[in-house]
Amino acid sequence: MEKKQFQAESKRLLEMMVHSIYSQKEIFLRELISNASDAIDKIYYKALTDDSISFNKDDYFIRIEPDKENRTLTIKDTGIGMNQDELEENLGTIAKSGSLAFKKEIEMEDGQEIIGQFGVGFYSSFMVADKVTVYTRALHNEEGYKWESDGQDGYTIEPFNKADIGTEIIIHLKENTEDENYDEFLEEYRLKSLIKKYSDFIRYPIKMDVTEKQPKSDNEDELIDVTEEQTINSMVPIWRKNKQELKDEDYNSFYQEKHFGFDQPLSHLHVSVDGMVRFQSILYIPEQLPFNYYSQDFEKGLELYSNGVLIMEKCADLLPDYFSFVRGIVDSEDLSLNISREILQQDRQVKLIAKNIEKKISNHLKSLLKNDREKYEKFFDAFGRQLKYGVYSDFGANKDKLQDLLLFYSSKEKKLVSLKEYVERMPEEQEHIYYATGESHERIEKLPQTEMVKDKGFEILYFTDEVDEFAIKMLLNYDEKEFKSVSSGDLNLEDEETKKEAEKQKEEHKDLLLEMKEHLGDKVKDVKLSTRLKSHPVCLSAEGDVSIEMEKVLRQMPD
Ligand code: ADP
Ligand code: MG
Repeated sequence: MEKKQFQAESKRLLEMMVHSIYSQKEIFLRELISNASDAIDKIYYKALTDDSISFNKDDYFIRIEPDKENRTLTIKDTGIGMNQDELEENLGTIAKSGSLAFKKEIEMEDGQEIIGQFGVGFYSSFMVADKVTVYTRALHNEEGYKWESDGQDGYTIEPFNKADIGTEIIIHLKENTEDENYDEFLEEYRLKSLIKKYSDFIRYPIKMDVTEKQPKSDNEDELIDVTEEQTINSMVPIWRKNKQELKDEDYNSFYQEKHFGFDQPLSHLHVSVDGMVRFQSILYIPEQLPFNYYSQDFEKGLELYSNGVLIMEKCADLLPDYFSFVRGIVDSEDLSLNISREILQQDRQVKLIAKNIEKKISNHLKSLLKNDREKYEKFFDAFGRQLKYGVYSDFGANKDKLQDLLLFYSSKEKKLVSLKEYVERMPEEQEHIYYATGESHERIEKLPQTEMVKDKGFEILYFTDEVDEFAIKMLLNYDEKEFKSVSSGDLNLEDEETKKEAEKQKEEHKDLLLEMKEHLGDKVKDVKLSTRLKSHPVCLSAEGDVSIEMEKVLRQMPD
């Protein structure tokens, strides 16, 4: 039998697992149960959509079997199983979502500490095992396979006669050491509490033999040990539960179980709609920007279930781009199981759900802004940019929905303000909303053009992000107040007398200005006398709609 080597990246991850000094080794169970549940999701879906597969709900379950004598823990499922290629691909390489993301994360931080704050998939079993054996048989396959590895030098695959479709994973527990005790993973009560803690919402029964003291049938006073198979998890999916019954921890652990992010969610909302369309949804606002958020690999979307059956892992049509950071699930009894990706886009129900969800997220963010400013600013720090892109894209079609979610840094209190707050505290004589663009707040502070506006007691919004000004150009105005750059030519802040004086000076120095302009040649369009400078001798100013900063960005864009 041939021994195959793990892919280089897998090896590295495995090494970290094997030598992990990480205290929460227990999460391996959550990972294996979650894989088992995914595998059952897949066969369950097939059974419901393919008449050739007979279907009985009781056939789908997960079983946990501790064996104290042999020091093994077995996780069995009746899921879709794996064929030889799949075994090779899935367990020999880090190919899949959770693990791949983890791989990138360790490349970035190379931190032992971060292991296990989140899902690390199948390989996490090597935190507790010195050998893992997998028996599996895929749907529509006559033959089964045995996969085995010590997590160090490669793995073996060989044919194996397996009676049923599904997968059985046998964890051979590591020897106990002075500091580490692995026997706890053979204890009934410990396993029970781990299942309750991490996998209570798994929708298939997680069964285990449990021994309890019970009164003897012929003598009620005498207690004897009775062993029977019990279902340990509550099986009600979290989104079907009553909000009142759930604690923040429940939502957080569901976020973790689903690998929605490596962080803790910043905020969640639990939605249950029973109107034109019926659906339940749990949505999360992450705390941190996903590491691949601005890269090609980032995929937006929500998990989509049709009456409890997973039909799509990332349904992009449920989220507008400007809310692409939202993670979560949607379950609707009004969706057909057989819905394809193409049909989904046009599906009336899906559109209704998407619209509803967008509204819910928007309202949630608004209430966060109103009621928990600190949290909102944290959110905005991570994802505000996406909202500004949202204002700018689609020719401003969404600006009305998004403008009240924007924050900008302002000269007044050197803090973030919303446009509403800005307008509400404008002095009566102020007509416009002023902004200045620049690389940093410090640079903007030094701009000669800001002086006069500030002297008038007007507040200035500081635009340091390239997208800021583009977004504002799309808005044009807010609450009927026009946005004006402090460097635009026509600020019109001077009084009549100054204006007259300026006209006079312009005449007087006509020749000098002309000469300067000729001297500077193509570098400038015009040289003018300015009335708005105080402590600076000269400033650059843009004419028309495009500011100097915007021009810079536009020039960098490919044609
Ligand atoms: P992820 O679950 O994020 O994809 P894992 O490392 O947990 O990553 O699992 C890797 C892959 O191995 C899964 O995507 C799945 O294809 C396969 N797999 C793991 N466990 C099972 C199982 N019990 N039944 C069928 N396939 C499985
Ligand atoms: Mg997994």
